[in-house]
Amino acid sequence: MRGAGLAAKYFMWIALGLCAVLLAEFNVLVVKNGDLWISSGLNGHLQTESARASKGRLIDREGGVWPSRADDARAALLAQKDTEQAQTEMDAIYHSFFDPAYGVAQLESRRLFGMKDKFSGFTGLSRLETRKGYDVTLTLSSSLTIDLFQALRATGASSAAAIVGNYATGEILAYTNLPSVSVGTALVSPYAEDYDRKEAWMLNRVLRVTYQPGSIQKIATALAAIRYKADIGLPDLNRVIFTCEGQLEMPGGGTIYCENGRHGDLTFTQAFARSCNCAFAMIADQLGPERLMEMCEELGYNQSLTFMDKTIDQQSRFELPPQVTSFALGWSGAGQGVTSDVQLQTLPYHMLLLTGAIANGGQARQPYAVKDVVTRDGGKIVIPERKPSYVSGKTLALDAVMAADARALMESVCGENGTAAALGSQMKSMGFTAAAKTGTAEFDVTARRLDGQGYDFTRGFNSWIVCFVKEIPVAMVVAAQNPSSQSAAVNVAREILPKAIEVLR
Ligand SMILES: [Zn+2]
Repeated sequence: MRGAGLAAKYFMWIALGLCAVLLAEFNVLVVKNGDLWISSGLNGHLQTESARASKGRLIDREGGVWPSRADDARAALLAQKDTEQAQTEMDAIYHSFFDPAYGVAQLESRRLFGMKDKFSGFTGLSRLETRKGYDVTLTLSSSLTIDLFQALRATGASSAAAIVGNYATGEILAYTNLPSVSVGTALVSPYAEDYDRKEAWMLNRVLRVTYQPGSIQKIATALAAIRYKADIGLPDLNRVIFTCEGQLEMPGGGTIYCENGRHGDLTFTQAFARSCNCAFAMIADQLGPERLMEMCEELGYNQSLTFMDKTIDQQSRFELPPQVTSFALGWSGAGQGVTSDVQLQTLPYHMLLLTGAIANGGQARQPYAVKDVVTRDGGKIVIPERKPSYVSGKTLALDAVMAADARALMESVCGENGTAAALGSQMKSMGFTAAAKTGTAEFDVTARRLDGQGYDFTRGFNSWIVCFVKEIPVAMVVAAQNPSSQSAAVNVAREILPKAIEVLR
């Protein structure tokens, strides 16, 4: 008996010693990864918060553990960081994690409550409250999301949206938007497009706000030209020379112009790389409204898309009046909706799918932000890792030859004299091939609401880039409204693409 007691005592000391060693290890981890780890097993504050709610947690790509309620996440950040940094991080992740309609915490609320399948009458609310929730493992990187948010904010844009994904699988690495939750109390957006909606900061701009596309629309026009080249009398499209005089009078009246003056003689590829409005207006006019519309609808315009099995209530729009003028049609093909009867608006999320389809051989992967669902204790798999799937139906399913042509065009944009040459040379120096299309869309008017005194109308612009990397399957979309520089979107891509590559490597 005495021997057994002694053995138990020794065992206890050994166990305590082991614990001390383990705790020290954890401390090193927390110190090393402090920026990424909003919480860990050592964060007592979070443990009590989460335990009290019994809810599951969100585990980001880095393994960082986030509470499933926005308020708890904010409190945990404020407990760990200075107020400004905490607010930045909360702003960055708010819409992708906690958006009340499309945030992963909302879309996965059943699992966070410990339900594998659907709620039923048997579940009962009280049982849900005491039930232990599952942890939801995300494909989202919170560190990349925070970097992306800071890059958007640095553009000085009044509103912006950006999303980064893996085009080979569909997993989303990061998405975020400006303004975000830190404006706190209700802020009424000064911009006309938001009038009928909620407060500006509540809008999930990647999934629910469309912007005028500007020249990124030339992707759709170029694909239509490639498909119908024989119909429009340009069977040898790659040998045609377009001559840009800087402006073009359209049949029936109205002038198309190129912002930076005369482009001179251009091949089709050069017209795309340098974003020549005159060449693309001419092409759009030759194509006519039916062919352009048909191509756009196949590419996902005017179509419902889903995010994590939920239908998105906004779509990219392309609508032309029945008797469209050459002037309006030409500008539409170049990316500007110039008359009030033309609808031309694009959704950042849709643009990621389109870019991804081109990069991925023609077929768009269905995006997803949740990898799997596991038990909180032990991480046993409840719902296995999601398998990549394609967007179903005819939407966003190009044939491989057209996709290859579009890839070559987008690579030329990152080549010498292309509008994203700076991105191309930077990526090249790192050993990668970038492909892109940039866009600058002018608003006819931007209406700023004056405190109950009517509106002040001014001109505004959107800066866009859609881009991808050939060697590593990263695709990215940035839309920034009224940034301080025309190259705002390119600059965001230059900063974020290398980081996204690191995340995937
Ligand atoms: Zn031109």
